[in-house]
Amino acid sequence: MSKGKGHIPIRTCISCGRKENKKSMIRLVLNEDGIVIMDKSGSAPGRGAYVCNETQCIELLKEKKRLVRAFGKMGRECARMQFAEIVRTISGGLYG
Ligand SMILES: [Zn+2]
Repeated sequence: MSKGKGHIPIRTCISCGRKENKKSMIRLVLNEDGIVIMDKSGSAPGRGAYVCNETQCIELLKEKKRLVRAFGKMGRECARMQFAEIVRTISGGLYG
């Protein structure tokens, strides 16, 4: 499936600022309740932001200012359980 040409969507990590292939990143979405959640499907409605598929970048998201920067005033809250799950998912992917 790798054709070597065509447009590869690039997104910027809101934690470290690195630009990566969208598919290798985790999409976060601000839901209707103003909570930032992980978007496993990659196509959930709402304002999205991307973060590297790395634990350290996820950990940085716990600093709310990063969420505020990415999502505006609405992005103050994050679902702690979601972050735990994200970290677990990443760890499982790396070591499992
Ligand atoms: Zn990053």
